[in-house]
Amino acid sequence: MKIRFCPKCKNTQIVDVAGGKIGLLECVKCKFRSVAFPEMEVKKNKK
Ligand SMILES: [Zn+2]
Repeated sequence: MKIRFCPKCKNTQIVDVAGGKIGLLECVKCKFRSVAFPEMEVKKNKK
């Protein structure tokens, strides 16, 4: 699976702004906003 991450703070908690209606995403941690966040492949879930 692929998950989005913030290019600024590497946080992976990315949420839709305005419920995803405008296609804008926001980092929960640093409030960085962009229409396109980089994605990374996640192979295993480490606990
Ligand atoms: Zn961030």
